[in-house]
Amino acid sequence: MKFENKTAVITGGSRGIGLAIAEKLAAQGANIAILYVGDESEGKAAVEQLAKYNVKAEQYFCDVSDFEASKQVVEKVIEEFGGIDFLINNAGITRDKLVLNMEESDFDAVIGVNLKGTFNMIKHTYKHFMKKRYGRIVSTSSIVGIIGNAGQANYSASKAGIIGLTKSVARELAGRGVTVNAVAPGYIGTDMTNALSDKIKETMKAQIPAKRIGTPDDVAGVVEFLCSDEAAYVTGEVIRVDGGLAI
Ligand code: NAP
Repeated sequence: MKFENKTAVITGGSRGIGLAIAEKLAAQGANIAILYVGDESEGKAAVEQLAKYNVKAEQYFCDVSDFEASKQVVEKVIEEFGGIDFLINNAGITRDKLVLNMEESDFDAVIGVNLKGTFNMIKHTYKHFMKKRYGRIVSTSSIVGIIGNAGQANYSASKAGIIGLTKSVARELAGRGVTVNAVAPGYIGTDMTNALSDKIKETMKAQIPAKRIGTPDDVAGVVEFLCSDEAAYVTGEVIRVDGGLAI
C-alpha cells in the first residue's frame, strides 16, 4: 500500500469531502488524524468507519480558526502519531448573502475558518515539514475562488485567498521536498450543498458539462494523487474538480 507508515491530518474529516479523503488515504495504509468541531459522535463514527483499514485513526476537537488551539492539536498529533506527512486543509463554512445584506460577522467567520484556518494549520506544520524535507499540503479551495459567485463574496474571497496562500507556500517549500497544492471542487453533493434549495440545485446541475453533481469521492481521488509519489513534481497547482463547470 502506497501510504503505509504515513500520517494524514484532515481538518473537517468527519463528514462530507473530508471523510471521503480520510477513507481514500486510509485505504492506502495512511494513519488518520481527523479534526472536527461539531458533533463528537460524528467524529467517533468516522474513526470507527476507518477501523476496517487497520490503520491508526483518532479524532481531535479543534476549531481551526483558533491559532493556539490548532497549534496544540498539531503538537499532539506529532507526539501521538510520531509525525505528519500529509496536511489536508478541508474545513470550510459558508454564510451566503449578497454583500448588501452581509454582516461584518458573516465575512469574518468565513475568512476565519476557511482562510485563516488554512494558514494556522500550515503555519504549525511548516517547520515539521521543513525538517523532514518531505510533506504534502493539499487545501480545498473552490471554483468560486476562481470565477466568483454572487451571494458568496466572503466564501469566494476565502477560497481565492487559499489559492494565493497555496502558491506562495509552494514557492517557499519547493526546495524542501514539500509540495503545496489545492483542489477546487465545483458542485459536490454534501451537507454543504444539500442545504441549497431544489431550484438552485437543478439550475446548477443544468450548467455542469458533465451533467451530474460531483461526489466527495471525485475530490478525494485527486487529493490521493496529490499526496502520492507520482505527484512529487506537482506544486503550486490548483486542480478543478467540477465536471467542467468552470471551463
Ligand atoms: P461539509 O459537509 O459542510 O463539511 C465541512 C467540514 O468542515 C465539517 O467536517 C466540519 O466539521 C468542518 N469545519 C467547519 N468549521 C470548522 C472549524 N472551525 N474547525 C474545524 N473544522 C471545521 O462540507 P463539504 O462539502 O464536505 O466541504 C469540505 C470542503 O470543500 C470545504 O472547505 C468546502 O468549502 C469545500 N468545497 C465544497 C464544495 C461542495 O460543493 N460541497 C464545493 C467547493 C468547495 P464538523 O463535522 O465537526 O462540523
